[in-house]
Amino acid sequence: MKPNLIATRFLGAETVAAMIARKGIAPCIAGLADYIRDDFRRWASFDKSARVATHSPHGVIELMPVSDRALYAFKYVNGHPGNHRFGLSTVMAFGVLAEVETGLPLLVSELTLTTALRTAAMSAVAAAALARPDSRRMALIGNGAQSEFQALAFHHLLGITQFHLYDTDAAATAKLLANLGRLGLSARAFGSTREAVCGCDIVATLTADKSRAAILTPDMIEPGMHINGVGGDCPGKTELHPEVLRRARVFVEYEPQTRVEGDIQQLPADFPVTELWRVLAGAVAGRRAADEVTVFDSVGFALEDFSALRNMRDLAEELGIDASIPLIPELPDPKNLFGYIPVLPGLARAA
Ligand code: NAD
Repeated sequence: MKPNLIATRFLGAETVAAMIARKGIAPCIAGLADYIRDDFRRWASFDKSARVATHSPHGVIELMPVSDRALYAFKYVNGHPGNHRFGLSTVMAFGVLAEVETGLPLLVSELTLTTALRTAAMSAVAAAALARPDSRRMALIGNGAQSEFQALAFHHLLGITQFHLYDTDAAATAKLLANLGRLGLSARAFGSTREAVCGCDIVATLTADKSRAAILTPDMIEPGMHINGVGGDCPGKTELHPEVLRRARVFVEYEPQTRVEGDIQQLPADFPVTELWRVLAGAVAGRRAADEVTVFDSVGFALEDFSALRNMRDLAEELGIDASIPLIPELPDPKNLFGYIPVLPGLARAA
């Protein structure tokens, strides 16, 4: 007799790509932004911790857990800036959503595409609170895997109409130009970060380099700019010159994690920052003046993936996708796990 297995919903990369295509990328990002906003506004309901990171010379592998009273989630994610030489992405991820009452895994999902969506949604949620409402021009520094998702989020959720592009790899910029052109978005390539950011309302840094880089220096910063720092997300991996941070109001996801991983790792532990949930919950003002410089020192926090997994589960439900994998054995007597193994002739003798 075939053993019984408890079905766990499974969303692979191809399924998620098809779901995004059916729903539309912009509605997906907008929906995800709503889930993120809702979860950040109930910040106190979550059991939070900084992610666990395992570093190696070429990258990092991280585990990111978080839970409320009903659901537990974790994400496995890596960051290997040199992966392109193996034909692999810099960032690859998958994750699990489980029920807290029993620990039963409810969903196993790809999170590589979903991370790009949720990072773009998170950036847009932060910018909606921190950037000038009349922002129209944005620089994208680093034109790799995350960049199209960022452009779409900022176009649809914030009304950005012009994109300035720069990457040290001209082929990456050409790819982004072509993709944005197909989407009908206006974009222009520049020869340096300095030229690209000039006159921009919002600057997103999306570079991948395991080094203490200073992609943005103080002389490039204009009054009223909002900086969305996405790529400085590991110890020893930064994008913003410390003086850029000192001249700005800095907002973070989860302070204990960002102190270690964010661009603020370069500053003393008492450098003042504000956790973004306080702004979203209405406890602290976001932007206070048109000429204020604001920085979202993003590193990626487990709660965003919790929101993303909930969102993907609900979207699969909405689209009628019920693929599952046989992950957990279903036992007539839960104490008789051994009885689940088909007994082969000679099993007892073999020992
Ligand atoms: P990617 O490797 O696909 O693209 C990164 C691009 O940065 C490459 O095209 C590279 O040529 C370019 N680059 C490197 N150094 C540069 C420099 N000095 N100036 C201009 N461009 C430069 O990586 P990705 O998946 O697009 O991710 C981008 C970054 O965002 C990575 O560092 C990743 O770890 C980070 N990330 C952060 C979050 C978050 O939540 N904060 C989420 C996902 C990814």
